[in-house]
Amino acid sequence: MDGGTGRLRGARGRWLLGFLAGLAVTGGAVPAAAQGLWPEIDRRAAAVMDSVVAWRRDFHQHPELSNRETRTSGIVAAHLRRLGLEVRTGVAHTGVVGVLRGGRPGPVVALRADMDALPVTEAVDLPFASHVRTTYNGLDVGVMHACGHDMHTAILMGVAEVLAGIRAQLPGTVVFLFQPAEEGPPPGEDGGAPVMIREGALDNPAPSAIFGLHVFSGFAVGHIQYHPGALMASSDNLRIVVRGRGSHGALPWRGVDPIVVASQIVLGLQSIVSRQLDATLAPAVITLGTIHGGVRFNVIPDSVEMLGTIRAFDQAMRMDIHERIRRTAQSIAQSAGATADVQIDLGNGVTYNDPALVERMLPTLRRVAGEGMVSLGPATTTAEDFSAYQQRIPGIFFFVGVTPEGQDMAAAPANHSPRFFADEGALPVGVRALAHLAVDYLSGGPAGQVSAPPPHR
Ligand SMILES: [Zn+2]
Ligand SMILES: [Zn+2]
Repeated sequence: MDGGTGRLRGARGRWLLGFLAGLAVTGGAVPAAAQGLWPEIDRRAAAVMDSVVAWRRDFHQHPELSNRETRTSGIVAAHLRRLGLEVRTGVAHTGVVGVLRGGRPGPVVALRADMDALPVTEAVDLPFASHVRTTYNGLDVGVMHACGHDMHTAILMGVAEVLAGIRAQLPGTVVFLFQPAEEGPPPGEDGGAPVMIREGALDNPAPSAIFGLHVFSGFAVGHIQYHPGALMASSDNLRIVVRGRGSHGALPWRGVDPIVVASQIVLGLQSIVSRQLDATLAPAVITLGTIHGGVRFNVIPDSVEMLGTIRAFDQAMRMDIHERIRRTAQSIAQSAGATADVQIDLGNGVTYNDPALVERMLPTLRRVAGEGMVSLGPATTTAEDFSAYQQRIPGIFFFVGVTPEGQDMAAAPANHSPRFFADEGALPVGVRALAHLAVDYLSGGPAGQVSAPPPHR
């Protein structure tokens, strides 16, 4: 890549302006003690930025798949130990939890970064492009940080260094969660946020709020998008096995054709969202991504297997969809003399940003990113296991743009694409956003000001 440093310099100039503008217009509910820390946070963030860029490039060049983040987490753990944090390793297999206890009393807040890469072969021409290859699902594939988790890990390491530098003035405790396997553990393994929680990531000390970010292509570098309420969908796996009775293709009446039954089920399932759910309440998606049955043109098979995904933004609607899928598939199968086994595996929950917490912390994001750089973004049907933390404590997950200015935003390769490109100009605002969110939250008192758990829990 070229021009990286130039972009970084531009971004630095921009956030300095943003910071000065923020000083002029804000203050608000944040106590003076916290405001006194703001310039120090920014000074330390600027000082650590070269390291953040170097860490990010190193992670990018050495990506590791879910539950295999041993090199990455080793670097993270060594860094946190060097900063004097309490460090726990091997959490959820390869995760790292770092605890920074401030010199003044106060609440506990968690910050989270995910560390895993994807089985995607990098097609971006960068000097630090990944040439790592591995075997995945029996296939020889490349490994790439195609979702930008290299940026997340480097950013949170930078935040740890910034906050460790002001430890004496820090009014409370910060828990750093470096999490493996956000993209989902390999088949047959567990992992990710639910296992981090099961293994005590949110206990001892127990945070009362959590913040996390995700870099996204398709909007300009350094811009922040937030969304109160349901930001990202729940994501559940669907498997349907239709069992009929095989026969000669010329003699269908001698069997029960599972291919025709499966076809009716495919169409039946598509009428659930379009005809049965309240379209004004929340969107939902049912997609069947595979359909497998039969081996020969004139042989009716015994069975057909279909795999799919279910996305929803409301917990009650999510459970209602599951019930309707079972009823639809089983009733259609029964009408033909076949059976349908419906298996639904619960995946990620709804990524739900506590509205009161968003309202409380929005001035922080605006101050950090600068005038005109923070906007209300749309919800997305993609999913995140950050949702697991938010089922325990209120949290905010927000997006940071990484597509270079002046580029056609709509044409930018999406996250997970082999051509996904993340502009490093987003790193400073990422470090500053999480550092300022943590300090402002700790300074604002315990989480008595956030709302009750959302209805979907
Ligand atoms: Zn991803
Ligand atoms: Zn991701």
